[in-house]
Amino acid sequence: MNCMFNHSSEKVMKQPSAASKVDQQQQPEDSTEGDRENPEQLSGTVKTLSKFSSDPIKTDSSDFLNKVFQNNKENGEVKQVHKISLFPSSAPRSDEKTDSEGSFLSRATVIKRPAEDSFEDETSKKQKPSTPTRLLPKSVLNPPTTVQERMRYLKNAHESLKSKLRNKDDQYCVNLAVKLELEAAKSTTSKNVYERALKIAIYKIRSEDSPQGTPSSSESSQPVSKIDDPDWVIPKLSKLMAPKNKLKRNSFILQIPPPYDGHLSKKVMQCSHCGDDFILGEQMLHDDKCVYHPERPKLTKQVALTNSRYNNSYNTRTYPCCNTTIDDATAGCATLKHHVYKLEDPIEMHHKIPFIFTADRNVDYLAVGLDCEMGWTSFGFELIRVTVVDFFTEEKILDTIVQPLGKMIDLNTKFSGVSEITDSNSVSFKKMRDLLFNVINRQTIIIGHGLENDMNVLRLIHTKIIDTSILYSTHYDPKRKDPLRLLVSNFLNRKIQSGEHDSMEDALACIHIIKHKILERYT
Ligand SMILES: [Zn+2]
Ligand SMILES: [Zn+2]
Ligand SMILES: [Zn+2]
Repeated sequence: MNCMFNHSSEKVMKQPSAASKVDQQQQPEDSTEGDRENPEQLSGTVKTLSKFSSDPIKTDSSDFLNKVFQNNKENGEVKQVHKISLFPSSAPRSDEKTDSEGSFLSRATVIKRPAEDSFEDETSKKQKPSTPTRLLPKSVLNPPTTVQERMRYLKNAHESLKSKLRNKDDQYCVNLAVKLELEAAKSTTSKNVYERALKIAIYKIRSEDSPQGTPSSSESSQPVSKIDDPDWVIPKLSKLMAPKNKLKRNSFILQIPPPYDGHLSKKVMQCSHCGDDFILGEQMLHDDKCVYHPERPKLTKQVALTNSRYNNSYNTRTYPCCNTTIDDATAGCATLKHHVYKLEDPIEMHHKIPFIFTADRNVDYLAVGLDCEMGWTSFGFELIRVTVVDFFTEEKILDTIVQPLGKMIDLNTKFSGVSEITDSNSVSFKKMRDLLFNVINRQTIIIGHGLENDMNVLRLIHTKIIDTSILYSTHYDPKRKDPLRLLVSNFLNRKIQSGEHDSMEDALACIHIIKHKILERYT
């Protein structure tokens, strides 16, 4: 089957002990290349071959091990077997890595395989049912990364496929994972390109329970339109990402702020609703009665009640919440028990709820739309809902109400769309992050409008950002950005936010603007 291997095993059985190796080194004129292979070196070979080749070799190697074991037992050298253990209890030293990889590569090119591509269809499975593909990376001439790394990516790919293709058996997912990993590894020598190619390939396999589901083999999931093809879209999305200086200018936090050394509780704050001053540490101690208008005044046309034939209409400012003009209005039409505030200083924000970098778990999504809703609590302006939508399928991949860390003062329902937070309809802030990091990682491109607000309430440091308010706002001043509603109306000729604020609607609107812009520019 494999002449090189058999050759080595014969030699080992002839010279199983370390002593014979010394003899052999003293007589170099007798030895050939194969003769010099001692059991220690061979144990490396066995490990590598069994790890990176298909079953027949493994069978050979276990037969071989049995033979060696028998041989050694007869010679009273049972100890020797430990050196040839298939799965050594201790991990290989790091300096052994290059060696084992090197030998893997050189040997792997000699080994004859039935086919390089391991993906088996139904017919070939029937022909050789005894040799199912195992979850191991196939050899390639110039691999983009180490075999250990490839193994890790392959395992992740297998996990992703299993959760996507719940109706398929495990062997199907193993075959597909091995096939996709091999294609990605053969396509490039760059680790980054390999990683992205594999992610895109897995991404293209539609999950079976998705409404837009297509038959789940990579051949039949060819995208219908270019905008559905990650290979075509992702490079264009990368070009739309905001550079770091722009993120900074727009109040994104790009590094963990230093520790706060003041006394936040003694700080005098100005109420974001009514403008009154209050001491932060006393905000919740007594009922202050914050009287305010929930909505900002808008310019409206008033018609003067005169008998004149001339048009006596004039512009004035009116509160939409209670429909009273700014001149007639009282201090407010709504009342809260406590004043509210918003922390603006990153150091203070970090002190209340710490910032963290996006985690780097294995995730399925390359680009997402994201929108958060906030409410007023004793901790400031806090996250109460987060919604994440997949850029390609436009499916909701995360939508959860989040329990605030501070005491709730105002749910802001008219704007947040959240009318109550109970234990049964919400998750903790910590759990929210866990759920979020299952769908986005550091490489995921996040799309949204005014995303600094979302990132800052999530306390998330993330640099792959496409922000429609940075890209398409007509104002240069970050404080005067065009509202999303206006961009949607201008670019998509559509009306949004007519009722209560819906984070799904907003996240999707941003995705649609970006898709529109990409198609407009590149097709
Ligand atoms: Zn009002
Ligand atoms: Zn107030
Ligand atoms: Zn929103």
